Amino acid sequence: MSDELGRRRIGRVETGSLTGRYPRLIGKNARLGDHGRGPVSTTVTVETTDGLRGWGLAGAVPGPVERFVGRTVGELFDPVTGVVDPDARALDLALHDLAGRALDLPVHRLLGTAGPQTTPVYDGGIYFSDLDARDRPAAGVVLADVAEDATDGFAAFKLKIGRGHRWTDPADGLARDVAVTRAVRDAHPDAVLLVDANDGYDLATTLRYLDATADCGLFWLEEPFVENRSDLEVLRRWRDENGSSLLVADGETCPDVEAVVALAADGLVDVLLMDVIGFGFTAWRSLVPRLAGLGVASSPHAWGELPKTLYAAQLARGLGTVVQLEAVPGRVDGLDTSAYRFDGRSLGAPDLPGFGLPEPGSGPGTRWRDLL
Ligand SMILES: [Mg+2]
Repeated sequence: MSDELGRRRIGRVETGSLTGRYPRLIGKNARLGDHGRGPVSTTVTVETTDGLRGWGLAGAVPGPVERFVGRTVGELFDPVTGVVDPDARALDLALHDLAGRALDLPVHRLLGTAGPQTTPVYDGGIYFSDLDARDRPAAGVVLADVAEDATDGFAAFKLKIGRGHRWTDPADGLARDVAVTRAVRDAHPDAVLLVDANDGYDLATTLRYLDATADCGLFWLEEPFVENRSDLEVLRRWRDENGSSLLVADGETCPDVEAVVALAADGLVDVLLMDVIGFGFTAWRSLVPRLAGLGVASSPHAWGELPKTLYAAQLARGLGTVVQLEAVPGRVDGLDTSAYRFDGRSLGAPDLPGFGLPEPGSGPGTRWRDLL
């Protein structure tokens, strides 16, 4: 199938931008200040000399794009593995889309369609809103955010924890983390709940938090502290001694990927989180077969830009091992995502060529509730 690509030559490469809109101001997490009301993303579109076009988020501005003009698609991209020229990394998603359109195949088919038709999805947009409204009880403020996203259909939520790392007195921060977790659990007894400390806890705080929420049935604990073998071994023992099914997810922040894979192989980390763009779509394609052999799950980090959730859905259906998809609530101006199916609990990638996303146009874009 690469002949179909090998003979096609790149005639034009264009960059553009997409404006995302979160449903509200997304506040702080344990490490970072306010996340704003929505990102502006760089896109890149590759057009062949015979008029075929593919587009995707670029991650970073790809530099002078004229350097790609005149090259064949096959010099930059192999449909079996992904981008083959490291210089074309910013074209990773656009070339996957282009290849899918050239071959009349969904991207998940290029990847092997080894995963399930749909994958569980959680709302990744519940941050520390309470810290910007200190005159109100923490739990009430966060419950309002959860309720807002529940109207979009979400039934699984990731709560940020680690308020005491930078923003409050450590004891008060931990008390707020526990109060918020317990309140969301009480209000949503059937919801899947995940928590993420963004490396803002140490081991002792992690164990205090887990002791205080042990009856909350948390699905996963993400980045409790900077990953290290000795602390993760203690956490493993806590889980074993408490008969806990809690998963530990890590590998999002500045990961030494081989080191995190080694921790996962030893049962200390259960879910790997490298970013769908920062680590890369092509890199995930080569890593997942190794993870599958080790029995390790994945959940490509997708926070920030809504299309990342859709790209992760293609990885999930294409490669398998993805245990949860991170959803970015809100919408993107001019982006029609209506080919993707969302039932509140899971998301499915469509059987359309490429990523199944028309080139962005005008209009408000698709909201999550429109996909229900
Ligand atoms: Mg995280």
